[in-house]
Order: sequence, then structure tokens, then C-alpha cells
Amino acid sequence: MTGSAVVVGAGVGGLATAIGLRRAGWRVTVLDRRDTQERYGTAFGIHPTAQAALDRLGVGEAFRARALPYRDGLIRSPGGAVLARLPLERIERRAGRPELLISRPYLLDALLAALDVPVRYGSEVKDVAALAAEHDLVVGADGINSAVRAAAFGRRSRPRHIGTVAWIGIAGFETGVYGETWGRGRFFGMTPIEPGRTNWYAAVPEAATAAELRELFAGWHDPIPRVLSESDPASWIRYEIRHLYPALPAFVHGGRTALVGDAAHAMTPNLGQGACTALLDAEALTRAVAAHAAHGPDGLPAALHAYDAERRRNAQRVAFGSRTLHRVMNTRHTRLRDSLVRLIPA
Ligand SMILES: Cc1cc2nc3c(=O)[nH]c(=O)nc-3n(C[C@H](O)[C@H](O)[C@H](O)COP(=O)(O)OP(=O)(O)OC[C@H]3O[C@@H](n4cnc5c(N)ncnc54)[C@H](O)[C@@H]3O)c2cc1C
Repeated sequence: MTGSAVVVGAGVGGLATAIGLRRAGWRVTVLDRRDTQERYGTAFGIHPTAQAALDRLGVGEAFRARALPYRDGLIRSPGGAVLARLPLERIERRAGRPELLISRPYLLDALLAALDVPVRYGSEVKDVAALAAEHDLVVGADGINSAVRAAAFGRRSRPRHIGTVAWIGIAGFETGVYGETWGRGRFFGMTPIEPGRTNWYAAVPEAATAAELRELFAGWHDPIPRVLSESDPASWIRYEIRHLYPALPAFVHGGRTALVGDAAHAMTPNLGQGACTALLDAEALTRAVAAHAAHGPDGLPAALHAYDAERRRNAQRVAFGSRTLHRVMNTRHTRLRDSLVRLIPA
């Protein structure tokens, strides 16, 4: 069984799915509503399991060429006291390879270079039923506001605001200070991204303007105020943090539709797992489709069932963990939280 698939969305999840389907011998059409590949975005942390998925999709080498290891990150209080260590060493010890950081545009470049069909930009999908009539498989990789999800499951599960605004940006110098700083109702994070630059992100309950953001972090430990004062607010990105709620009853529908990435399980960014889970979904879905090829046309529903069984609970557990961590990081009860965080073994 190989056939014709349409992948809606050319983000991380959609491109990785298209690559996997092409490797399985499918005819693939990739549609994206944007006019061109957008190049915004800061760093993604890519966990070793997602790195292995990239290897299985044949993208590992191109990905690693632009990625940096993330080995040393601390959790600090706004005054600079160290509360705990991020579990990066444990991840590396267990997996035998480190967490890697890559800028979002570079990851998209690596995926695009591995895809041997062009993305059809400027193609916004509104009529999902029409697509289903033309293709054996419809993959919804169309992000948090997924039209494919709405067509398959209605609007009960939908993006919900959680009352927090995120700001992300890149500073034009290396801080050498990495990890996260947790304050009362807000936090600030910094990671390496490439030589001479630092990736930063912040989450706050308010701050509509760059000036307000600077005020909220004035007085925090060095170099946080400097990162904000020495980078150009015009390059910062602000967005409302949302997640998909309630969790979907399935990632597949009708034996011919599957959802991957944010379309299936958009989560808060706290665990840094949005791109990782999208890659794991894409690899699992396309592996299942390839594995059921011998069963002829009847193989597709079984392949989608296998994908759902492999990924849904796992991804939804990560989404729940990320939402819980968001509550902890943004709590106003910092004394109790910080005492508990200090108990985390180094
Ligand atoms: C601040 C921040 C930090 C993050 N950090 C990390 C991190 O460190 N590690 C990590 O793993 N993840 C991280 N993430 C999450 C990550 O960005 C996403 O979760 C991940 O990229 C999921 O990709 P996706 O392909 O599912 O969706 P998207 O990237 O949203 O792609 C969806 C695509 O579908 C297209 N589309 C939408 N609707 C339609 C339509 N109707 N028709 C046609 N095309 C359509 C869009 O144009 C878009 O190109 C972070 C997110 C944020 C906001």
C-alpha cells in the first residue's frame, strides 16, 4: 500500500511527516497558507529521542551541522541564588548524547533540504472534505488552530489562553549564563543558540510593551536587564501562551485522517517539547504507514490506529506535564516552590 497523501502545514511536524511519507514511497502534496517559508523563531531544544527520530528520517546529519549541545543550565532566583540544576546531565547520561539546541529557521532549512517535493505555499486549506476526496491520507500538521482537527473532531478541543504572555528574542552577545530564573508570577530563560548570540525567553502575566517587559525584569540578576536593554525590541516576538484543551479523544479519524504536532496536542512551552513531540509524531506516523504497506488498501486504518496507540497518551502526558510546570514556574507562592525546587537532586 502506497498512495497519495496531503500534508496540511509546512512547520516542523508537516515537513517531517512529508519526508517520512516520501521515504515510504507515497505521493505527497504539502500545502501551507503562508506565502513563503517564514524564518522567525528562536531556539528549540531537541531531546535525544527526537534526535533519533530525525536520524530515522534521514535528517540527523544536516540537523547536527547547525546544532549546539546544551549541557549546563541552572535554575536561579531573581537575586541570582542557584536553586537547582536543569536535568541536562541526566538526559545525556541516560541517552548517551546531549540535548541539542538549534535555531528554528535552521531546523526548518534542514527539513526542507531533505524533502524532494516542493511545498505549495499560499494554499490555505478551508475545505478539508474536498482534500479527503482527492487523497488516501490527510495529515493535519496545521498547528494550534488546525482546520483539519476542527473538521474531524469539531471545536470542543480548542486553543485556550492561560493568562500568560511569552516574549522571545535573541541577544547579540553570549551571556555565558544559561538556564532559567524563576520569580513571582514570571520567569526568564537563556540558552546558547550560536556563537556570539544568546537565545532568551520570558513569560509574564502582563507586559504589553517592550518597555513594560524591561521594567518587570529590572533588578533581576545580571545579565537579564542587559539582555533586554541591549537587544532591539523590534526583533522580539510576543504571543499569548495557549494550549489545546480538553485533550483530544484520538489523533486519527475515519481511518484516513491523522493529526501531528500542535494540531494534535498544542502545549505550553515550559518543557520545551513542542518541536520534539511534533518530530516524534511524524516519525511514528510514517513508520506505521510504511509498516502496514504489505496489507494493501486496508492497511491504512490499522497504521493510523498503531500511530494513535504509540503517540497519543505519551504526547498528552508531556502536554499535561508542561502545563503543570507552567503553574509552578509562574506561581506567586515562590517561597514554598523554591524550597521544593532546592530539594531536586543535582
Ligand atoms: C517560545 C517558544 C519556545 C519554544 N521552544 C521550544 C523548544 O525549545 N523545543 C521544542 O521542542 N518546541 C518548542 N516550542 C514549540 C514549537 O514551536 C511548536 O510546538 C512546534 O514547532 C510544532 O510545530 P507544528 O509543525 O505542529 O506547528 P506549526 O509550527 O505551528 O506549523 C503549522 C503550519 O501550518 C500552517 N497552516 C496553519 N493553518 C493552515 C491551513 N488552514 N492551511 C494551510 N496551512 C496552514 C502554518 O502556516 C504553519 O506553517 C516553542 C514554542 C514557543 C512559542
